[in-house]
Amino acid sequence: LNDLKYVCSNCNHTTKLDESYPRCPICNEPLNVEYIEKGKINKNSKPSDPFWVRYKDFYPYLTKDYGISLGEGFTPLVKIDYLRNKLNLANVFVKNETQNPTWSFKDRGSVIGVINALRLGYSQIGTVSTGNMAASVAAYGAKANLKTTILVKEDMAKEKLNPIAIYGPKVLQVKGDYAKLYDKSLKIGKEKDIAFINSDVPMRVEGSKSIAFEICEQLEFDTPDYVIVPTSAGGNFRGIVKGFIEFKNAGLITKLPTFICVQSAGAAPIATAYIKGEKKISHFGKTDTISPAIGNPNPPSGNEVLRLLERYNGLALTVNNDQIKDAHLELAHYGIFTQPAGAVPLAAVYKLMNEGIIKENQTVVMIATGSGLKDTKAFNYHNLTSSFVSLDDLDQVL
Ligand SMILES: *Cc1c(COP(=O)(O)O)cnc(C)c1O
Ligand SMILES: [Zn+2]
Repeated sequence: LNDLKYVCSNCNHTTKLDESYPRCPICNEPLNVEYIEKGKINKNSKPSDPFWVRYKDFYPYLTKDYGISLGEGFTPLVKIDYLRNKLNLANVFVKNETQNPTWSFKDRGSVIGVINALRLGYSQIGTVSTGNMAASVAAYGAKANLKTTILVKEDMAKEKLNPIAIYGPKVLQVKGDYAKLYDKSLKIGKEKDIAFINSDVPMRVEGSKSIAFEICEQLEFDTPDYVIVPTSAGGNFRGIVKGFIEFKNAGLITKLPTFICVQSAGAAPIATAYIKGEKKISHFGKTDTISPAIGNPNPPSGNEVLRLLERYNGLALTVNNDQIKDAHLELAHYGIFTQPAGAVPLAAVYKLMNEGIIKENQTVVMIATGSGLKDTKAFNYHNLTSSFVSLDDLDQVL
């Protein structure tokens, strides 16, 4: 198959692209699909084509279209003009991933993961997730008519289960240590021929590359100075970095942005290791964050994110719950309603401007990862009001 391989992100051990196990058999670190060195944008793609057709040189292993797109990707890049007055930042953009079929960027990785599962002949897929990824895999499992199993925490609330269950997968509330499920599901998947499309598997990373490709096109190939990614497992961060690198390899852009990994102060294994100058993450222990979508205390791609930050001079930082709340409301006041995780990059912009890292007139792209309606509990963080008026008084009040 185009003799592309999986390459270990840590020890460079290679395995066949037909292997479905997503981690290195030698060192257990995550695998990458080999970086693409050459390619161009398929300018003949039609508006109805999915992103992997427009960028097909960067997805050479996707030779067959199984007709399972739900219209993911090609999300807007929205300019936030208000920050020009407030911060003297004229070029701040939001990559609005809330506009995906299941309202988060996860759809990009789910669709590539499911196509890969079909390509390898799987008839069953699954994932381990409590949130956006579960809904996303369930939706694509439904579209592809595959038997789909979603493993969630035992104590998951009904209002969180229902948006997953509506797509018709088998939902299993697993009793026991949730942290062990990631590895365990991969092992069971290998034995039982279920393709587990977990948070940072290589094909999910491949899906996230398209965020970078689209940003490059939307900015007319003028690389932004900063790209800010709210990070949990690390799969999305890896994908965005890989996308920019592949476009640079191909000569479509001439420089890379500075990649910024932002985490919640109460769930910051990667940023903590980065700040301490460590090469490996440690388990963060008990987490405390209002953005559960970025709450993984032991991210499976944490070490690889650290390697990427070091190799490409990126940086990692934390923002606290109050800063996230402020950013969440502020972004909504600019017309973009995200779940708290999606607003974390705006909180990071304030912090990085205060520290003199981001400077006036630089170009910043914030990745708004998921929709506000995914986390209605977050309404409680704000003092949202309305008032009554009688029909007779309406003219006066207005
Ligand atoms: C999954 C998710 C993230 C974190 O992405 P990772 O790939 O796990 O780092 C951030 N925000 C939202 C809304 C998500 O659903
Ligand atoms: Zn390895």
